[in-house]
Amino acid sequence: MFVRELGQSVGALRGAGKAVCEKLARLGIFNVADLLTHYPRDYDDRTVFVPFSSFAAAPRIHTEAEVLAHDWFGYGRMRTLKIHVRDESGPAVLVCFNRPFLELSLPVGARILVTGKFQYRYGEIQSTVFEAERVEEGPKSGVLPVYPLTEGLQQGNLRRLVKLALAEYGSRVEEELPAALRERRALPPKREALKGIHFPENAAELERSRGYLVFEELFFFQLAVARRALRRREASVLRGETKGLLKRRLLERLPFELTPDQRKASEEIAADMAGSRPMARLLQGDVGSGKTLVAFLACLDAIESGKQAAIMAPTELLARQHAQTAARLLEPLGVRLAFLSGNVEDAARAPLLAALAAGEVDLVLGTQALFSDEVAYRSLGLAVVDEQHRFGVLQRLALGRKGPMPDLLMMTATPIPRTLALTVFGDLAVSTIRTMPAGRKPIVTHLAKAGNEARVYEYVGRLLAEGRQAYFVYPLIGGSGSPSAEDRRELKNAEAMAERLAREVFPERRVGLIHSRLKEEEKRAAMDAFSKGELDILVATSVVEVGVDVPNAAAMVVEHAERFGLAALHQLRGRVGRGSEQSYCFLVYSEGLTEDAKERLKAMLESPDGFELAERDLRIRGPGELAGTAQSGNLRLSIADPVRDLAVLEEARAEAFALAEADPGLLAPENAVLREVLSRANPFGEASLAH
Ligand code: ADP
Ligand code: MG
Repeated sequence: MFVRELGQSVGALRGAGKAVCEKLARLGIFNVADLLTHYPRDYDDRTVFVPFSSFAAAPRIHTEAEVLAHDWFGYGRMRTLKIHVRDESGPAVLVCFNRPFLELSLPVGARILVTGKFQYRYGEIQSTVFEAERVEEGPKSGVLPVYPLTEGLQQGNLRRLVKLALAEYGSRVEEELPAALRERRALPPKREALKGIHFPENAAELERSRGYLVFEELFFFQLAVARRALRRREASVLRGETKGLLKRRLLERLPFELTPDQRKASEEIAADMAGSRPMARLLQGDVGSGKTLVAFLACLDAIESGKQAAIMAPTELLARQHAQTAARLLEPLGVRLAFLSGNVEDAARAPLLAALAAGEVDLVLGTQALFSDEVAYRSLGLAVVDEQHRFGVLQRLALGRKGPMPDLLMMTATPIPRTLALTVFGDLAVSTIRTMPAGRKPIVTHLAKAGNEARVYEYVGRLLAEGRQAYFVYPLIGGSGSPSAEDRRELKNAEAMAERLAREVFPERRVGLIHSRLKEEEKRAAMDAFSKGELDILVATSVVEVGVDVPNAAAMVVEHAERFGLAALHQLRGRVGRGSEQSYCFLVYSEGLTEDAKERLKAMLESPDGFELAERDLRIRGPGELAGTAQSGNLRLSIADPVRDLAVLEEARAEAFALAEADPGLLAPENAVLREVLSRANPFGEASLAH
C-alpha cells in the first residue's frame, strides 16, 4: 500500500483514546497516513550525554539520573513539586511548575532520562524547562523527533504513536517511484525513509531519509507540471483575428512613446499570442520600468480576438490601482472592465460573476479571487499575474484547471522567483525590460541617523512647497498590537506619526494615513486622495510597498529603515522617481545596527538596480529565507521547501520531464506505479491531473 492509503483511523492505535484523537484532529491527523506524514519540525540529538555538572558551559543537559526525593513548596494553587535527582556527576533539582502529575510518573527510585536547560540558583543546579521520562518507557537515546504540537499533546505522546504506527503499518508501505529511478538515485526503500525521518539513528540517516521524501514529493509535483507543460506545448489554441487595432488606439492616446524594451517585450508577447500554442511568458523589469502598460497591450490583443483577459495583483490596493489605470486608459477604447476581490459583497458579486460567465466583461482586474473556483469565464484568453511570488498561488495557477489553457503572462521586478517560476510552470519564455522610460532621473538616496530627522523633514518640506508629494513609512501601525512591549516603546508607529507630522511638523499640509488594518474603502479613499493630489503626505506601513504609482510623489521617507528587508526597501524607494523630476529617498536608521542591517542600508546607498540588490540580498540572507516564497495554505508540499530545496527541485524537474516526454501516457510497465499513484491519490487537490 502507498502511505497515503493507510486510511485506518489513528484511534485504532493503542493508547490513542478519544481525548488524544481530538487533539490529533486539531493537527489535521485523522488516520495513520496523516500521522506518518506529520513530519518532525526539528530533532533533539540525544546521542551525546551531557551531565548536570556541565550546566554552566553546555546550553542543554542530557543525562541519565536517579530520582532521590520529592519535595513541595508554596501553598494552594501555587503548590509546586520539586524532584531531587542525581546523575554520575552529582545532584540537581527539577522544578515542576504546573506539572504536579510528575509526582506519579517520576517516582522516587526511578531511573530517568532528563533533557533541559539548567542554571545555578538558590544553591542548587535547577531546571524549570525540562523533559524527563523513565528509562524503560522512552527511547533510551538517539536523535528524537520534535513535532509540531497542539495544546495538551506532549512530544512523548506523538513519538510513541508514530513509533507504533511505524511498527504496525511500516512494513506495508510500498514504493511510489519506479525502480529504475530509485536505483539511479540510490534511494533507500520508502519504509526505511519513513522510519529514518521520524527516528533517525544519526545525522546521516536523517539526511538520506529527508532526501528521499523531499525528492519524491518534488518529483510528483514536477511530474504534474511536466504533463501540464507538455499539454501546453501540444495544445493548439483557436485564435481569433487580431490586427492590433486596439493596441494602436491606446498607443495613440498615450502622452509618451513606448521605450524600446517595452516595444520589444510587447512584440514578443504578441508573437506568442498569435502562435498556435498557449503562451507562458515571464516579463521582468525593475520597479518603475513600465510593465503595466505592456500587460495592457497584451490584454487588448486578447480582447480584440474576442476573448477575455484577467489581471491579478497580490494586494487589493494594487489591484484597485490597476483597475483605475485601466479605467483611464482602456475604457475610452470601449473595453468593458470589472473588479473582483474577496471583499466584493455578495450583492455585487453575483451579477459580476454572471457577466464574466456571459462574456459581458472584457477585462477583469482583481486579487487571487479571480482564479477561485466560483469564477467561470466565458472564454479566458489571457491571464496576467503581477508581482505574485507566493509559491502556492503560482503552483495553483500553473496546474490550473482542466479545459482550454489561457495565455499566461507573469510580471516581476525581482529576478529570484524566476527559477521558481520555471519549475512551477514547466517552461517559460522570458522578456526583459532593462531601460527605464526616458527622462527619469535616478533617485537620490540619503541615509540619516535617528535624531537628525529634523533635517530630513526640512528637506521634504521644501519639496512639498514646490507642489510635490511625500510618503512616510513606519514599521508599526499603531502603539498597541502584537509587537513586544519593547518594540512599541522604541519604534515610531504610523498612527502616532501621522498625528505628529500633521500637527507639529507640517501643520499647513494635508496628511493621510494608510495601513493594513483599515477597511478596504478607507484604504481606497486614502490612496485615491493621494493620487489625486488632495493629500500632500501619505503616512503608511509597508502596504505601499508594491506597485503603487503616483508620479508626483518625490520623497520616500522610511523611518527605522533598519527594520525593513532589502527587497522591501527597494520596492518602497520605487514608489518615487516615477515622473521626470528629481526624487529622493531618505532612510532614517536607529543606533545599534546589526551587521546585516548595515549591509542592507549600504546596498541601498550604492545600488539603484533591483537585480543587483536582489543578488546582494541573497548574499546577506542566504537562500533559505527569501521573501515571498513562504509556504502558503494552498501549498500541498509537506516536507519539501521549494527555496531551500531548489537544487533537488531542479533534479526532480529534470527526471520528471525526461520521463513525461518519453512516456506521456505513463504506459510503459515500469511507469505503471506512477500511473497508479496518480490515479489513486491526487496529491495536488484541485489541480487535477486527469485529461
Ligand atoms: P512597474 O514596471 O514597476 O510595474 P509601472 O507599470 O507602474 O511600472 O510604470 C511606472 C510609471 O511609468 C507609470 O506611471 C507609467 O505610466 C509610466 N510609464 C510607463 N511606460 C512609460 C514610457 N514608455 N514613458 C514614460 N512613462 C512611462
Ligand atoms: Mg507594477
